Amino acid sequence: MKTLLPTSTAGSLPKPSWLAEPEALWSPWKLQDDALISGKKDALCLALQEQQHAGISIVSDGEQTRQHFVTTFIEHLNGVDFEKRHTVKIRDRYDASVPTVVSAISRPKSVFVDDAKFLRSQTKQPIKWALPGPMTIIDTLYDDHYKSREKLAWEFAKVLNQEAKELEAAGVDIIQFDEPAFNVFFDEVDAWGIACLERAIEGLTCETAVHVCYGYGIKANTDWKKTLGSQWRQYEKILPKLQASNIDIISLECHNSRVPLELLELVRGKKVMVGAIDVATHTIEQPEDVAHTLREALRYVDAENLYPCTNCGMAPLPRDVAKGKLQALHAGADIVRKEIEAASA
Ligand SMILES: [Zn+2]
Repeated sequence: MKTLLPTSTAGSLPKPSWLAEPEALWSPWKLQDDALISGKKDALCLALQEQQHAGISIVSDGEQTRQHFVTTFIEHLNGVDFEKRHTVKIRDRYDASVPTVVSAISRPKSVFVDDAKFLRSQTKQPIKWALPGPMTIIDTLYDDHYKSREKLAWEFAKVLNQEAKELEAAGVDIIQFDEPAFNVFFDEVDAWGIACLERAIEGLTCETAVHVCYGYGIKANTDWKKTLGSQWRQYEKILPKLQASNIDIISLECHNSRVPLELLELVRGKKVMVGAIDVATHTIEQPEDVAHTLREALRYVDAENLYPCTNCGMAPLPRDVAKGKLQALHAGADIVRKEIEAASA
């Protein structure tokens, strides 16, 4: 029988302090060469075990082999010069020094497939693998070749599709594309964002997901959130498009956010990964806090389509905090699962 309310995380988990500087994004590796390769594998096993000990249903690699969720994918492609850097405004929000697209984008070999095969060999549980979405990738680059955000996104959609097909063949059950940029560039989402996402999932038979959030709990994001007013209605602009798309699962930020949860009604019938853990605070939720958000979401998402999740990745959090939040997610989902089962008995 299919588990009701299967839990998962949006993707990243903190890295052990012997692998990379904790509580930082783009943190440099502390190991080198062969030691780094085996260190990443050990960290992946630890991240898996922490999810298993917490009782998480759909597990991931915790993104332990990546320095950053976007740049690590790009590093493996042809056409991007990491020495040639420009400062750009990411998500229309904060400045970052990013690499430059200097020639045609191509993928000489797979990027994460060996890591996915390794994770597959470690567990029989369903596994989810996250990739950066086309719009979010191009928003993290300086383009000196295509001179068109749309053309560049289309090229990335093609290489993402090649990677996704190999991940599927490696036994990944759910392939997720992270598109926080969808919450910012609504005209582009309309014009080509959804089309590029559908190009990235073309021909896949495994389940597909898109994660759209308000970002990691870093200062630039929490400052931005303060400017968004009392109701965050960004999802209202994109959910109707996602509802009409071929994407199977939509991963959204719901807990402690000012997103009116009735917006979830816009994707009734789709599977929804409901963020019930706040990644922007070190306070560990009580199971009852998680249960409260899930019960609210159940008014707009049918129980068989509700997947309790985290609001976003937990990479910047202290490790024990992330561990506590995984346990709270499991315990909160358990409360609501029992309520549903009792009501239908
Ligand atoms: Zn996110």
